[in-house]
This record gives sequence, structure tokens and C-alpha cells, in this order.
Amino acid sequence: MSYIQGETGDWEIVIGLEVHAQITSNAKLFSGAATAFGAEPNSQVSFVDAAFPGMLPVINEYCVEQAVRTGLGLKAKINHHSVFDRKNYFYADLPSGYQISQYQQPIVGEGKLVLDMPDGTSRTVGITRLHLEQDAGKSLHDQHPAKSYIDLNRAGVALMEIVSEPDLRSAEEAGAYLRKLRSILRYIGSCDGNMEEGSMRCDCNVSVRRPGAPFGTRCEIKNVNSIRFVIAAIEYEAQRQVEVLEEGGTIVQETRLWDTTKLVTRSMRSKEEAHDYRYFPDPDLLPLELDPDWVEDIRKTLPELPDEKKARFIEDYKLSAYDAGVLVNEKARADYFETVAKGRDPKIAANWVTGDLFGYLNKAGKEIEDSPVSAENLGGLIDLIADDTISGRIAKEVFETMFETGEKPADIVEKKGLRQVTDTGAIEGAIDAVLAANAGKVEEFRSGKDKLFGFFVGQVMKATQGKANPALVNEILTKKLKG
Ligand code: ADP
Ligand code: MG
Repeated sequence: MSYIQGETGDWEIVIGLEVHAQITSNAKLFSGAATAFGAEPNSQVSFVDAAFPGMLPVINEYCVEQAVRTGLGLKAKINHHSVFDRKNYFYADLPSGYQISQYQQPIVGEGKLVLDMPDGTSRTVGITRLHLEQDAGKSLHDQHPAKSYIDLNRAGVALMEIVSEPDLRSAEEAGAYLRKLRSILRYIGSCDGNMEEGSMRCDCNVSVRRPGAPFGTRCEIKNVNSIRFVIAAIEYEAQRQVEVLEEGGTIVQETRLWDTTKLVTRSMRSKEEAHDYRYFPDPDLLPLELDPDWVEDIRKTLPELPDEKKARFIEDYKLSAYDAGVLVNEKARADYFETVAKGRDPKIAANWVTGDLFGYLNKAGKEIEDSPVSAENLGGLIDLIADDTISGRIAKEVFETMFETGEKPADIVEKKGLRQVTDTGAIEGAIDAVLAANAGKVEEFRSGKDKLFGFFVGQVMKATQGKANPALVNEILTKKLKG
């Protein structure tokens, strides 16, 4: 638990998140119009999306299935009966004057999500609900000095709104929640989780209280579009509230904006100015009735999800919770690791993947999908160490070349002549030369300066360009120095 140290003592942060996740679907929630990102403005708008009189919404079964799959992935209760409501408000990018959403009876009820914290610990956070709704269009205010333009491509696109309980207690936990949620959505395939393109957006509800006291009044920060900003916005907002309270003020419930250039939250509207959405069931849509067998069939086709995969990696491969967590975070990483580990020592495989490979990918700004080193080739490199063709040290050098050129490890070893020297005669020769050239140091060693052993090993490795088998060097050197 992390507290904010105020002038008058400790304060605890309380956070609940509302995430809008765009469903990966070729068509919109209630129309057949396309949804591809980046299309020419107003090129993907049907009469339904533009709210022409007399047009009727038709539910997209695929989107319903994605919401159910996601609910199952969040270990949540699936509501076999749910209702679509109209949420009424007026805005230029909402041609119908209402958004079709779900209010009292959402498609998915209570669920849970496990946070994996960087220190390897985990904690369970409650999910309140998940409901289906359509997105609004987009107002473009920066295209003309005096006019605003409207792009309705986004109007009607299917969203899942996923609401958490106020269970999060620090900005870091909020970050861990979003990373985990994104990971689950990607495993399920219901949302690409791409925050830069706006397919995952987050409203952050933040309050502060004295440890153990009842919840304080919250403020909601709207539409934050990166995990980094979510963390910064929550930290700023909690600090602001602590300062207000310590000066004897009160927090007014309000909606705030995150200013991405000044890095502050600013008031947008207070509770008094809040919209009255006049929710009522949409008369154009029947309640959604799900066949329990259909839901069970979907459950059977769910992939292995991150938590289960992590548990299996810890159990079967004896990995640490931390390594397992890092590997299962993205399915492509987990698959890569399993290919490397197949028939090999899993701990060695995990070290190469999480250490060397992730390090190089990180530095190159590459995703695992674009790794120049294939899982098969990394496995081949590990085999070359295991059968004594190369030493672990030379392997690092080979790996660097593999990453630069994408070549097979055996080819690099042959081409560069990196094959390990296991010929005892050759190693003895090198050792004799090193000892002869350092007679003084040999004296010192023999009169008790044990630490010099490392120096001799280093000299021999240098003389053999790192190719001498380290175990043999140790053995022969020990014999010659002590014998
Ligand atoms: P509304 O209906 O106004 O959207 P909800 O009860 O649905 O309010 O809560 C919205 C979000 O606010 C949820 O994620 C919830 O966890 C969070 N929340 C509720 N109370 C608090 C609080 N005191 N501090 C922080 N977050 C809160
Ligand atoms: Mg809400």
C-alpha cells in the first residue's frame, strides 16, 4: 500500500477505472458499415449511423459474442437477459441525439482481474460490469479557423465499457490494471488494445481518504489515452485533492480533463452541470436474450488466458513468478518462449528470452513478432552451448550477430571460426605460454595470492580469442599452478 505523505499525515488514494474498449469487428454494432482505422472521413457511414429518419438498428451478433467472450475472460457473470437503453444528449457528432447503451441491465455483471505487480506479488480487483454501447462520431476543430468538421466514421462502432470497483490504491496499480486488461483483451481477440489509435480509452475516478476512513468524494478524469498519462493524471489529481483538503477545503464531485501539455487536470464540468441522460429502453431493439448453451459453447473455445498460462509456466517450467509474468504478458512472447524451451532447459531458455532477446528488442524498438532472431535459431544457439561447440561467452557474441543479420547460429560459428577449443594439447600450450610470460605472478600465486587465478584464466581466454573451453582451462590451470 502506498500512501501520500501530506503535511497533516498520510492519505490513501482510491481509484476506480472505466475503460472503453473498441470491439475488433469489421462492421459496426447496429449497422453493416466498415470500421477500419484511418479511412477517409465520412466514407464508412450508413444511413443508420447518420440517423436518417426511419432507419432501424440491427444488432451485430459477432459483437455480442465478443462481449460474452470478454466477460468469460474476466471470470464474470454473463447476464442471459440484458437491455439496450437510449442515453440522450445533444452534440454535433451524435446525429440521433442519443447513444444506444446499456444501463440497469448490462450483458456482463461482476467479475475479477488479477494484478501482477512488478515485485512479483499479485492482488485481485473487482470488475463491476461490462456493457455494450455505440461510439459517437468525431468533431474536428483544428481543420479550419472558423469551422468545425464532423467525421461520422466512428459513429456506431461497437464499444465495451468495462467498469472496475474502487479497489485500486495507487497510480501504479491503475497502470498494472490497464496492462493486464489489455493483455486479456488481446488474448481473447475482442479488442486490439491500441491506446494510440483510441481503441482503448480510460476514465479515471480518483478520491483520497485517511487510511481506514470512508471513501472521499471523487473526481473523474475523462478520456485519458495512454497508460503513462493515466499514471501521471492520477498522481497529479490525488496530490491536488490532498492539498485542497489539508488547507481545509472540500472536494467537489466533478469531471476533469487531463492537459497533456501542462500535465495537470483541469475542471470540465461540476456535478450540477452534469447531464441528465433521461435513460429509457430503446423501443427499436428487443431485450437481448442469450441461449445458455451458446454461452457455454463460447466458454469452451476460450484460449488459455494469461493467469492460467502463468500458473502453468511456474508449475511446468519452474520459472519465477516474475519471469512467468513477463513471458505471458503477450501471447506472442509466451509462444516464442515455449518453442525455445521445447526439449531444452526451460530456465536457460527463459534467461535468453527475457534477458538477451528482450533487451535487444527493446533497444531496437522492435516487437517480438519482428524479431530478427527466430525461436528456432535461439534454440539452436542454446544447443551449441549444451553440446560444447561454443562457450556461453562466445554465445553472447554469436547472438549479437544473429540479431544483426538473422543468420543461423551454426553458420555464424563456422564462418567466424568460433568453435570452442576442446583440444587439451592446444589449451595446455596456451597456458604454458601465459605462465611463462607471467613468472612473477605465478610466484605470488604460489605464495598465497589465490585471487590471481582469475587473472590467469582471463589471459588464457584472451590468448585463445575466448574459444578455449572454460572448464578445461580451469582444470589444466589448477593442475599446473598447484601441481
Ligand atoms: P457513475 O454512475 O457516476 O458513473 P459509478 O458508481 O458507476 O458512478 O462509478 C463509476 C466509477 O467510479 C467506478 O469505476 C467506481 O469504481 C468508481 N468510484 C466510485 N466511488 C469512488 C470513490 N469514492 N473514489 C474513487 N473511485 C470511485
Ligand atoms: Mg459511469
